[in-house]
Amino acid sequence: MILHGKPVQERVLAEVKAGVDRLRATCGVTPTLGVVLIGDDPASQIYVRGKKRAADSVGIVARDCLYPQGLGQRDLIDLLRSLNADPEVHGILLQLPLPKGLDETAALAAIAPDKDADGLHPMNLGRLLAGEPGTVPCTPAGCLQILDHYGARLEGAEAVVVGRSRLVGKPLAQLLLARHATVTMCHTRTRDLAAHTRRADVLCVAAGRPGMITGDMVKEGAWVIDVGVNRLETGKLAGDVDFDSVSPRAGAITPVPGGVGLLTIAMLLRNTLAAAQRQSAS
Ligand code: NAP
Repeated sequence: MILHGKPVQERVLAEVKAGVDRLRATCGVTPTLGVVLIGDDPASQIYVRGKKRAADSVGIVARDCLYPQGLGQRDLIDLLRSLNADPEVHGILLQLPLPKGLDETAALAAIAPDKDADGLHPMNLGRLLAGEPGTVPCTPAGCLQILDHYGARLEGAEAVVVGRSRLVGKPLAQLLLARHATVTMCHTRTRDLAAHTRRADVLCVAAGRPGMITGDMVKEGAWVIDVGVNRLETGKLAGDVDFDSVSPRAGAITPVPGGVGLLTIAMLLRNTLAAAQRQSAS
């Protein structure tokens, strides 16, 4: 089975749109996302445009704070604090990676946890670890949406996550653990990666290495979630999973493009709506 992201994305966006309409009708509040982009990285500019388009489509206002010429660390922190204090901004997205010389960890920590639309503030990551309600990082949340939409059984499953970044691998492993999977995390120092991946009932790969998971590394019938988005020299996008050799063995697999990537922005908008709902209720 191919785990297409599109129907899952459409369902999440429809739910978000209904929530936005309800919030506007009952509280007169339009959820607003402050989008902070520092520098002129073309890939980041494309992502930000995509986020804005998707926000428009569900009635969320994306307020741009664009600094193509760059911004110093202190000014960035001041900007984030002013967005924290602005009652008309419900969520804040700081587009990563930041240009060299800026401290990503300090900037993420300067965002008010309640407005942290990306779920990367240490408070929200801590809540995830503690099993408390909080804002969950968008890409890992999107992986769970896909698994749930297509009916994956996670309880008791052997789940293997390749990659341990703050953005994807670590939070994804926590989400799988919270769903009672038995989770193994792999990284560059893992000995005999294939011995781990071959045990996986659910294999999630977020390493940023095109085609690194091949058919011989996957158990027959496994569910394979490919988070990787890699631009090849040919200009084509490729995942971390070699689709051609893995798909005949996998029970289910996400394509790249057209899989997990479609969910990330949808989950960002869901987080923004949830932030606006919380702030309107308090
Ligand atoms: P990252 O910060 O570079 O982390 C990569 C992780 O993979 C690291 O933990 C690294 O291990 C591990 N790794 C790299 N090569 C490996 C290998 N050969 N064997 C085992 N582990 C290996 O990347 P990221 O931000 O998590 O992103 C990962 C991929 O997901 C990228 O392709 C990125 O473009 C994609 N992504 C997609 C979305 C989306 O919306 N679909 C969102 C975010 C990211 P060490 O810790 O030991 O270095």
